[in-house]
Amino acid sequence: MDTLKKQKNTIPFNYSSPVGNELQYIEQAVKSGHISGNGVYTQKCQQFFESKYGFTKTLLTSSCTDALELASILCNLKADDEVIMPSYTFVSTANPFLLRGAKIVFADSEKNSPNINADSLESLITNKTRVIVPVHYAGVACDMKKILSIASKYDLLVVEDAAHAIDSFFDGKPLGSLGHMATFSFHESKNITCGEGGLLVINDKSFTNRAEIIWEKGTNRSAFFKGEVDKYGWVDVGSSFLSSDISAAFLYAQLENIELIQEKRKTIWRYYHASLKPLFEKNKIQLQVIPAYATENGHLFYLICKDTMERTSLIAFLKNRGIHATFHYLSLHKSPYYQSKYKGPPLLNSDHYTDCLLRLPLYFSLTLEQVKFVVDSIYDFFGIKNESL
Ligand SMILES: *Cc1c(COP(=O)(O)O)cnc(C)c1O
Repeated sequence: MDTLKKQKNTIPFNYSSPVGNELQYIEQAVKSGHISGNGVYTQKCQQFFESKYGFTKTLLTSSCTDALELASILCNLKADDEVIMPSYTFVSTANPFLLRGAKIVFADSEKNSPNINADSLESLITNKTRVIVPVHYAGVACDMKKILSIASKYDLLVVEDAAHAIDSFFDGKPLGSLGHMATFSFHESKNITCGEGGLLVINDKSFTNRAEIIWEKGTNRSAFFKGEVDKYGWVDVGSSFLSSDISAAFLYAQLENIELIQEKRKTIWRYYHASLKPLFEKNKIQLQVIPAYATENGHLFYLICKDTMERTSLIAFLKNRGIHATFHYLSLHKSPYYQSKYKGPPLLNSDHYTDCLLRLPLYFSLTLEQVKFVVDSIYDFFGIKNESL
């Protein structure tokens, strides 16, 4: 009884639930007799992105990690070519380029946001630099105008890691449409999900043909099915990057409900932001800053604590009330795998987000009553009365 009650009152950090026809579409896919990759639902998902956001070409993959691997093959890197990315990101931003033999050059975050500091890029560029990988942290755009102008000045490729950034914009343009390529994630923790899934967006048409070949294990099977060649075979390197049509069926139902999902997530985000503002004004916490060129997409809500100790106590305080809040990335340049390889300068902003950033629960089925309970609990932690809303 007690444990049941406790479970009922628990607010997990994330919780995934169907919002529309997920189960019906999976059933339809199964009954159609075709559930391998590049099937009916895969095509529907790709068309959705191409028509809603104007992406030139998209390929559904089994994860964003996979999409980044596909992108890194397309970058055609030679050993020791350099790829610049923020240190404050997930391992999947770095691994695909390391697997191609490239050298990773970590950039610091901005002072006011975990995003890559575009002003630091020129000092990191050498004659070996080939690619910049901006990560739109929390779905908030990096300074793409600066990044794209530096990339064009030095003739570099830009691959946007847009894993967090579905349905978000830079100067009115959808994130994912700005770099030569971009990748999205449909992992359970993201706004739109199918458990595990991803998307490669190709904006530079010169990559399209090769992308389809690498996607289909190094064969020209896609061209064969489009009637462009009369037989298909092994024409290049590749791997199995396709997602099953069962996953695509789930994903398509989520995409059909994207407005509903986004509206709910943004409502929660705005409630957190507005009701915690007095704590920011009293200098207890820092809140996320959205630059004029960017939008928020309700992907994740974070606050910045004074120091690690305070963050640890706040996490414990909330946990005691059944609320699961959590920190985020550990700077990659300080990770057990990379620390001894790192030869660059200290990245103090990245370390600051590693130490002080705290994410609050945010998911579709979270009720505003629960959100209010989280906010009240944070006020209680600081011993301040919540008079916000
Ligand atoms: C989630 C995430 C990924 C990886 O996505 P998967 O679909 O789980 O492979 C890559 N980069 C960032 C920034 C992410 O948050």
